[in-house]
Amino acid sequence: MTNIHPALLKRKIIHVDMDAFYAAVEMRDNPALVGRAVVIGGSPQSRAVVCTANYEARKFGIRSAMACAKAYRLCPEAVFLYPNFEKYYQVSEQIRAIFARFTSVIEPLSLDEAYLDVTENTSGLYAVQIGKAIQEAVARELQLSCSVGVAPNKLVAKIASDFRKPAGLTVVPPEKVADFMHGLEVRKIFGVGPATEKRLHALGIKTCADVLNTPLIHLENHLGSFAHWIHSAAQGIDERRVHTSRERKSLGREDTFSKDILSLPQLLQELQTLSEKTASDLHKRDLTGKTVTLKVKYGDFQQITRSQTLRRATNSAAEIFESTRRLLLERSEAGQRPIRLLGLSVSNLEKADATAWEFSSTLTD
Ligand SMILES: [Mg+2]
Repeated sequence: MTNIHPALLKRKIIHVDMDAFYAAVEMRDNPALVGRAVVIGGSPQSRAVVCTANYEARKFGIRSAMACAKAYRLCPEAVFLYPNFEKYYQVSEQIRAIFARFTSVIEPLSLDEAYLDVTENTSGLYAVQIGKAIQEAVARELQLSCSVGVAPNKLVAKIASDFRKPAGLTVVPPEKVADFMHGLEVRKIFGVGPATEKRLHALGIKTCADVLNTPLIHLENHLGSFAHWIHSAAQGIDERRVHTSRERKSLGREDTFSKDILSLPQLLQELQTLSEKTASDLHKRDLTGKTVTLKVKYGDFQQITRSQTLRRATNSAAEIFESTRRLLLERSEAGQRPIRLLGLSVSNLEKADATAWEFSSTLTD
């Protein structure tokens, strides 16, 4: 047996992904839709895009994120429906209640996807058995199907759940991880979006095996620190923990002044200090965050918050300062109204080890 990387022996992670979730819920609740191509999004006459297409619609080439107008050209007989998020939210809660029978360590990614850490669980079942039990419960109790990946970490579990859809169960034990990753295309790696994929292709790197055959320093020259993540991921190594919703969601600092401040330079000085303290708090916890929020309380106690979501997560004092500075100057009345409190916080937190996520998607497959 080949050597197994010790990181692959630490955890047992399940990724559950509902199959064509929004469309499946609509078909379940309206049997007249069964057997027809169903597109959840909006009217083909509008600028709406496809949220979910059922499997019949996909046969015509209809995909998530496609304009509904285009979907209509591909399949005029398709049924186009507006999404009913309230209903999907309720069903999602029912699905999470099923997960909770097996573990309390659940990280929802969206309404239709979640990671479960089942390393330590009280059910007495193996990870694979839990995956199967979840599929059965979801089918029996909610009349819906899901695909499940079981693996030593989030990265591999998510790729595995997508491996055989719909209703697939794909298990990648530690000793199979290297082989499993080997032939996969680089875009399967979490964080590798179209732009990074293009740059990798330009370097002649198409698969995970190609990544491992490229010297790390060469990758670093082209991709910076993101190279380290890609290099680990290509081996199927991922140390990110499953973050439950109970965990810290934001980190920040605020300061109430002894005397209200009107002067802009003085406010910016305060903001600089808050940015440095927050960045240092993030560093200490090994976190980065993507959303920066500024809080301003005026002298008359009226309070506003203004947020900006960055292209990528940060823990840099300079970047935090820059984005809150703009929020202060452009979206508050700083300099015109006395301010008694300034605060800033960073949310959308991630472990600092892999910061360059390119994509964030609310689409479902
Ligand atoms: Mg899905």
